[in-house]
Amino acid sequence: MDERERGRIAPWAPPRARRRLAELEAALAGLDADGVVETVGEALSGHLRRLDEEGVVLYAGTNTMSARARAAHEVALASRPSMGWPGEKFQTGLEELDVLEVLAPLQVAALMGGGFAEVRLQSATLANLACYAAFTRPGDTIAVLPEAAGGHASHHAQGAAGIRGLNVVDLPYDAVRLDVDHGALPAFLRGHRPVLVVVGASLMLFPHDVARIRAACDEVGALLVYDASHVAGLIAGGRFQRPLDEGAHVLTMSTYKSFGGPPGAAVVTRDEERARRISEAAYPGLTANYDASRLAPLAVTAAELAAGGPAYADRCIAAAAALAEALAGEGLPVVAADRGWTASHHVAVDAAAFGGPAEAARRLAAGGVFLSGIGLPGQAPGEPMRALRIGTQEVVRRSLGPQDMGEIAVLVRRLLVDGEDPERVLPAARALRRRA
Ligand SMILES: *Cc1c(COP(=O)(O)O)cnc(C)c1O
Repeated sequence: MDERERGRIAPWAPPRARRRLAELEAALAGLDADGVVETVGEALSGHLRRLDEEGVVLYAGTNTMSARARAAHEVALASRPSMGWPGEKFQTGLEELDVLEVLAPLQVAALMGGGFAEVRLQSATLANLACYAAFTRPGDTIAVLPEAAGGHASHHAQGAAGIRGLNVVDLPYDAVRLDVDHGALPAFLRGHRPVLVVVGASLMLFPHDVARIRAACDEVGALLVYDASHVAGLIAGGRFQRPLDEGAHVLTMSTYKSFGGPPGAAVVTRDEERARRISEAAYPGLTANYDASRLAPLAVTAAELAAGGPAYADRCIAAAAALAEALAGEGLPVVAADRGWTASHHVAVDAAAFGGPAEAARRLAAGGVFLSGIGLPGQAPGEPMRALRIGTQEVVRRSLGPQDMGEIAVLVRRLLVDGEDPERVLPAARALRRRA
């Protein structure tokens, strides 16, 4: 590579990233304070325009907050430190924040079917790390979903589980039924004796049989953690599945994906002793001060989800079913056709015929449709990620419904199957977004 393309941000990054970084570093070199302020302003407005105003966002791990939740997101709170319990804090003058620190976890715990919710952690990665800190010791074994089945980096050795020094083994997985291989599970657990089992994934087309997995966990005394990062919004509506009712000991979740709240995470459980250990892992373990500005929009989001009942979850699921059917009708290889494609807000498309998911996602983005790649359950070991993942939660929040999914499928077909020039497709994507 040309020396001029070696930047200072991450000269170790892969070539495509290095080129982009070098281009940006060259353009941004030597700005004075006014220049930085102006550049920041342009970046912010451009970002909002591209994704919020002109793009059709089908990325599964995002959302847009409701108007009331946005109005409750007061950024000034983020720099007001708060450590310890209301009534006994390290800092004084936080009586109003006390209210939010009680309201938000109560709302989240009740909505998710738990008794206790820890809501201070800034991300689901940290929520999972808090579970490892609370319930494992370095050197212990945990069993998680394989990466090709959507097992998240934070479940695996390269992520939070590795940081805790855990030995990570892949659960046996049935790529046809898209769940843990229940026949093989009991012997597998007896062989590996994990202290903790994590299910729940970054692609969740169908529910897990949590009760059956829990029964196998009980035989070896393993704790069952359900990572609901993607499906928390459906669970909140009483749809898809209710992991804590079905036997999961602990539920971790992102608050900003299908849940539709501020960035961050929650850990929910019914057991007081487990809740205490998770809480201590969160503070003083993994946080000191934390971003308290998240609490108000989190409480509002949870309250709105509770008040709305299953309506939002049902719309997300109906839109995904409609989109899967429409995409299949346009000739795209939608995953799990034999099972009706999906029972969640996710849809997966095999992208092998379109140059793989990274290339396909770039084409779609150039045409105003934003999403990402994901592993395809059952893909060959070592094969690069092979599927495109779609989530309907954001377009549903922006008031598109099943009746609009045909139009989205046409955009995808024009970009991927017909290979049309993305510039020519972009106006149609913008028009669809503006109508929503
Ligand atoms: C997105 C995701 C996470 C991580 O969430 P962050 O908030 O980005 O840390 C964890 N688990 C699963 C299954 C996810 O999909």
